[in-house]
Amino acid sequence: MCPSSSNLYFNLLWKGANGARLHRNNFKNSHWASGYTKFRDDGARWCASTGVIVSAHSSLVCDPIYRFGTEEQKKKYLPDLLSGKKIGSFSLTEAGAGSDSGATKTTAKMADGKWVLNGSKLFATNGKEAEVFILIASTEPSQKTRGVSAFIVDRDTPGYKIGKIEKKLGIKSSSTAEIILEDCVVPKENLLGELNKGFKVAMVTLDGGRLGIAAQALGIARACIEDSIKYAKERFQFDQPIASFQAIQWMLSDMWMEYEAAWLLNWRASMMKDKGLNYSTESAVAKLKASEVAMDCARKAVQIHGGYGYTEDFNVERYYRDAKITEIYEGTSEIQRLVISRSLLK
Ligand SMILES: Cc1cc2nc3c(=O)[nH]c(=O)nc-3n(C[C@H](O)[C@H](O)[C@H](O)COP(=O)(O)OP(=O)(O)OC[C@H]3O[C@@H](n4cnc5c(N)ncnc54)[C@H](O)[C@@H]3O)c2cc1C
Repeated sequence: MCPSSSNLYFNLLWKGANGARLHRNNFKNSHWASGYTKFRDDGARWCASTGVIVSAHSSLVCDPIYRFGTEEQKKKYLPDLLSGKKIGSFSLTEAGAGSDSGATKTTAKMADGKWVLNGSKLFATNGKEAEVFILIASTEPSQKTRGVSAFIVDRDTPGYKIGKIEKKLGIKSSSTAEIILEDCVVPKENLLGELNKGFKVAMVTLDGGRLGIAAQALGIARACIEDSIKYAKERFQFDQPIASFQAIQWMLSDMWMEYEAAWLLNWRASMMKDKGLNYSTESAVAKLKASEVAMDCARKAVQIHGGYGYTEDFNVERYYRDAKITEIYEGTSEIQRLVISRSLLK
């Protein structure tokens, strides 16, 4: 069963040696993206919350520090993050900057050789527990996307506060937090990447993040298929297992076919990342397909379970609630279609 509190997840995953060791070892080798995609898919098969906790930490925090960080930043932050001692959170979204992520209103101004951040961020996954945050703030407001920068912010920085913790439809073991910045003073060496190039940091980071969300969606879809097969063999109606009805068989076949197609798309994009190729479009395709497959599999899984599938006695009820978010975060399905069509029409 999925842990129902974030504390349990901490014990199971981060403080547990296996989770941390697997994470560290995968990050170092050249098959990081593809190997880690498999790990996250397996994790999300059991618990979609765990899937996104790991995904946000690794893809949205470890990866950009590794990719854009200075040697000092890597030395300071990566050992604790990769060993699981500290958890990371990434914050791009604001009340007025969702799909339009360039509309950031949070500002970072230089004063006495330090950055002073003001504003608020929304929906930061892991925000409640994280100790290391990557935040996007406007450093040149008139320049919009060409005037934002990325910053690494420690949780205990004065002026840094965690606000509202969201109550959600699904992925309830993963925290989603508001972040409030009131004259939050950040050392100048905590700028991540180049000044005014934060939008690029965010977009490159989200390309990788989408592979993680696709893996999460695949894990949910696989859970739906495996639970449905088991139930269809055990549940008898009309003196026979419901698995003997063609309607059920066809639903299972379609779920499996779609799962395999989505799995291969995510594998292709992950391999392209490992090879250092440009994989923005492939990542959008993989995330779009996998999230729609997760939703479709969850709908069919509840249908196969009949009335029992609508109760909390069976996990498919949770899969149904968890699947929806994969169509929303790290770019909604409409935004993925925008990314794909832009690449087709350029
Ligand atoms: C549980 C959860 C966890 C999250 N975790 C994080 C996180 O860790 N870090 C972070 O920065 N953010 C996070 N987010 C934010 C998430 O990425 C955004 O919610 C998402 O990108 C959509 O933005 P929005 O909610 O403002 O919707 P809006 O942008 O307001 O979109 C509303 C609707 O309009 C559509 N739409 C918008 N623009 C267009 C367009 N140009 N063309 C067609 N349709 C369009 C959208 O597809 C959607 O259907 C999280 C959100 C949730 C719910």
